[in-house]
Amino acid sequence: MMKTALVLGGGGFIGGHLAKRLKEEGYWVRIVDIKSHHEFWNHDDICEDYVQGDLRDPQIVKNVFRLETDNEGKGIIFNYSYHPTPYTKVVPFDEVYQLAADMGGAGYIFTGENDANVMHNSALVNLNVVHEASNSKVGRIFYSSSACMYPEHNQLDPDNPNCEESSAYPADPDSEYGWEKLFSERLFLAFNRNYGLDVRVARYHNIFGPQGTWTGGKEKAPAAMCRKAAEGDVDLEVWGDGSQTRSFMYVDECVEATLRLMRQDKFLGPVNIGSEEMVTINELAQMAIDISGNNLKIRNIDGKEFIDKYGFECPLGVKGRNSHNKLFKEKIGWETKATLREGMEKTFNWINSKVNIPF
Ligand code: NAD
Repeated sequence: MMKTALVLGGGGFIGGHLAKRLKEEGYWVRIVDIKSHHEFWNHDDICEDYVQGDLRDPQIVKNVFRLETDNEGKGIIFNYSYHPTPYTKVVPFDEVYQLAADMGGAGYIFTGENDANVMHNSALVNLNVVHEASNSKVGRIFYSSSACMYPEHNQLDPDNPNCEESSAYPADPDSEYGWEKLFSERLFLAFNRNYGLDVRVARYHNIFGPQGTWTGGKEKAPAAMCRKAAEGDVDLEVWGDGSQTRSFMYVDECVEATLRLMRQDKFLGPVNIGSEEMVTINELAQMAIDISGNNLKIRNIDGKEFIDKYGFECPLGVKGRNSHNKLFKEKIGWETKATLREGMEKTFNWINSKVNIPF
């Protein structure tokens, strides 16, 4: 029988790209997402079965982990009533990718307004998912943690942030989003130790690319810069003084790294998946301007001016953050090659086609 994959949160950015890759490789793919459909992909291109469901509900989680085949174990049978029939048997998914989370960019995570939802919603999803994955004896499960779980005190110097995996403790993430990620990566690893659940845990660092949120408030910095550069009619506004540093990984590389982590038997993680090409936010903005060819100037906005305009304090996150890829290279034997500029060009072209729709 063909390999089967369950992509939770597959209606989102990384999940959509990952599901597409799995389907292209010949997997039978089911996506589950609280959204009714993927905004940027045709479902036929990314999965066989797209289920709209809220993973905070344990009964829904139980249902979507059910996969039925005929009695010889050949071919998937859809049985939406979820009652066993004499002609089918329930089989576990070979691979599960847990990407569903209540999340967004700085304007969503760092203002404090969404803290309760972020913690409650994502923790509920992870508690349900890890339980059912163990119960239904899935082959292997991937959990997407985040660089936001690293302690703030190691990320105060923009030129020298420390995000080595071993620096995680004593813990002190600068957001509730980061605390929930830390809790949940421990949760998945505890299920491995106590129940033998075969888990892989990665800490993603700022993933970007086409087919992701680019407007509306939940978009991340690279998409926001590309949109502002494509709009091209005013100065390009950058939140804060723009000296904070970050690295950004192109989504195809993230999918490749995720699959490589999943496709080896020895190393569970947690491990960073990110790029080591660190830039300041102003450099990222300038890159978007250069790619657009528009004659724009960066305008940094902060303090009272920011509060007057947006009604909340400028959300900046830590001063510096960069991926540290030594452990991934050592354990998996692979490193990312794409440059930030290459990824930004592809992302800009896609966002530009949305902003400047030809008449
Ligand atoms: P995304 O927001 O595009 O995707 C997450 C998906 O989860 C969304 O489609 C959302 O509708 C879905 N979801 C949320 N709550 C749900 C629920 N209760 N039931 C069902 N579905 C639900 O985010 P993404 O950028 O694709 O990130 C995927 C994962 O990787 C997330 O867990 C995120 O925290 C993690 N991560 C992402 C980045 C990044 O830079 N994109 C960095 C670090 C970690």
